[in-house]
Order: sequence, then C-alpha cells, then structure tokens
Amino acid sequence: MAHILVTGGAGFIGSNFVYHWLERHPEDHVVVLDLLTYAGNEENLNQAITSNRCTLIQGNIGDESLVAGLLRQDSIGLIVNFAAESHVDRSISGPDVFIETNVLGTHSLLKAAKSVWLDEADFKRGHRFHHVSTDEVYGTLSPEEPAFTEVHQYQPNSPYSASKAASDHLVRAYHHTYGLNVTTSNCSNNYGPFHFPEKLIPLCLTNALLGKPLPVYGEGRNIRDWLFVKDHCEGIQAVIEKGAAGETYNIGGCNEWSNIDLVTLICQLLDRKFQDDPSLAVRYPQCAGALGRKCSESITFVKDRAGHDFRYAIDMSKIESELGFKSKTTFEVGLGITIDWYLENEKWWRTLLDRHGS
Ligand code: NAD
Repeated sequence: MAHILVTGGAGFIGSNFVYHWLERHPEDHVVVLDLLTYAGNEENLNQAITSNRCTLIQGNIGDESLVAGLLRQDSIGLIVNFAAESHVDRSISGPDVFIETNVLGTHSLLKAAKSVWLDEADFKRGHRFHHVSTDEVYGTLSPEEPAFTEVHQYQPNSPYSASKAASDHLVRAYHHTYGLNVTTSNCSNNYGPFHFPEKLIPLCLTNALLGKPLPVYGEGRNIRDWLFVKDHCEGIQAVIEKGAAGETYNIGGCNEWSNIDLVTLICQLLDRKFQDDPSLAVRYPQCAGALGRKCSESITFVKDRAGHDFRYAIDMSKIESELGFKSKTTFEVGLGITIDWYLENEKWWRTLLDRHGS
C-alpha cells in the first residue's frame, strides 16, 4: 500500500481528486493536509474518511516540520499540491494571505520535500511533487489570439494569479537547482460537485434556487474555458503517472463560454428542471422556476472586477500528444451532473452559506 499526500484535499478540486485517486488506486491511502480555511470542508471527505482510506490532518503547508514528519512517518513518495487561496476577488481585497499560502506555503512544502527526499539518506527514493496551478498565470487573451500553450509568457494580472505564478517558478527552480522530481499542471476554470458557492457556477445555482439576484460582472462578455472537475483529476493523474520531470502541462476543456452565455444556459437548464419535476417547486419555493418565471429574469449586471482578464483559453496539444489525455465530459453532461448535485445536496451548500454568509 502506498501513502500519498494531498494538500488542500478538503477543498473543491482536492476532494474530487481524493475520490478519483482512491477509485483508481484501490490499495492506496491518502493523507490530506488541509488548514480548513473557509474554503476547506471536512464533510467533503466524509466517505473517504469513513472507509479508512483517507486521513485528514488539519495543518498548514507552511509548517515545514509537520510536512517533513508526515513524509517520513508514512514513507510518502508523492505530494499533490492543491492547497491555495483560490478566489480572485478575495485576492483583490486582501492579497497578503495569497502571498503567505500560495508563495511562502508552496516554498515550505518544497523545502520539506527536498530535505526528506533528497537530503536524508534513509529516505532517498523515487518521488514526485505535483503542483496544481492555473491558466491565469498567462494573463489575458483578446478574442482573436491563439490559446495559451505551455511556452506562453507568464503575465499574471491579479494578486491571485501573480501568487500562483510565483509558486510555479519556485517549483521549477527546485527541479533545476536541486533535482527535485516535479511536474506542474496549469488548468482552466473547473466546475462540478463540492464547488464553494462563491464561484460563478455554484453562486448562480444557489442564488437562483434561493430566488436571489444572479450577479454578472460588467456586461458579462469575459470568456472562460470550462472543464469538468473529474476530467481535471484524470488529467492530473496522467501527468503524475506519465509526465516527465520538470515539465508543465496545460489542461483545459476546449469549451469557451462568455459569462453571460454561461449564466443564461444555467438558467435555461434550471427552468427545464422545474418544468420536468414539480417536487422542485415545493423544495425551492423562492426559485423563479417555482413562481412561473424564468430564472434569467434575476440576472443582474454589477460593477466589473478590477483588472478583469478578458479571455482565457487552453491549447491542449502537449498533454494530448505526449500523454494521450483528452477531456471527455461534454458541457451538457457535466453541467447536468453539477446541477443535479446541487439540487440533491442542499444541506451541504446551505450549511456553507450559514457558516460563511452568502
Ligand atoms: P479551494 O479554495 O476550493 O480549496 C483550497 C483548499 O486549500 C481548501 O481546502 C483550503 O482549506 C486549503 N488551504 C488553504 N490554505 C492552506 C494552507 N496554508 N495549508 C493547507 N491547506 C490550505 O480551491 P480549488 O478551487 O479546489 O483549487 C485547488 C487548486 O487548483 C488551487 O491551487 C487553484 O489555484 C488551482 N486551480 C483551481 C481552478 C478552479 O477553477 N477552481 C482552476 C485551475 C487551478
């Protein structure tokens, strides 16, 4: 049995990854290290913890001795680093914690990995440090520009993307300078189960169900490339298992949508759900769909985000040709699964809204 360390595994993508990995590696045990910030939720891991295949340690990736102790104690040879502050709006109003976690925290994690895996004779072994990053490090594209490749210049525009860019550079430097076996993946916008309801898709879904306005920045023309979270997990697995040390791989959905078109689509899908299933009107009486109106009537344009990147798009050629990975889930299927998950897991998101405000 192998133990792996997943940092930030109680968050959105991390918890999906824990389930994905355990399904694909029935012999493995996952140790999750998570600070349980507002974005981390122990309940996301309930099923994995109760099956005794996952242990959750509440702690900071910036705690080098804690991380080194975990690596030694369980002879861990793989770290998958999801831990981060991840919300652009929060990075604009309060950037400090983004630097602490994303830059200094990642650096501490690298130092712990280097000291145990490379410097301690007893623990020298095959190892891999996989760093999960974002396409936002590349900056912004105009409508005509080609999608980001791995050699696109880093041009981060928000404190969030700048902090992720810095962490990517540190990961690269630990490979080139010390020989740490690292890989990095830069991914586009994810959606799916366990997504904290401050991000666009779950925010729209939960607000629509509660009969609240659906806020859209500016005129809603900004474009994002959306990827189903389970496909992202599959892509990360491909990079861990087949990716070359020191390399970076872009992962995207080849699925570009303007924000206004995306929110309108979610509204249409929800309207259809309410038409097809009358019990939803009883469960969600404030939703426009329960009141004989269209959800899109609640779309409200709000003042644009400062420095809002216009467009992100991912060129998948490298991961497709070198690792044979392609995202599989169509947007129609992935959004359907996501909407059903939020309809079925009202307690999960209501608890978060009660705990952290909407
Ligand atoms: P998330 O905010 O849902 O989860 C982050 C997790 O990290 C939380 O569980 C939180 O408690 C934990 N955490 C925060 N600070 C920590 C610390 N100092 N020590 C230990 N744990 C800490 O984020 P997410 O959306 O799941 O994103 C995961 C990773 O993927 C991030 O690195 C993010 O930059 C990257 N990413 C996200 C997306 C996306 O669309 N969500 C896209 C591309 C890349």
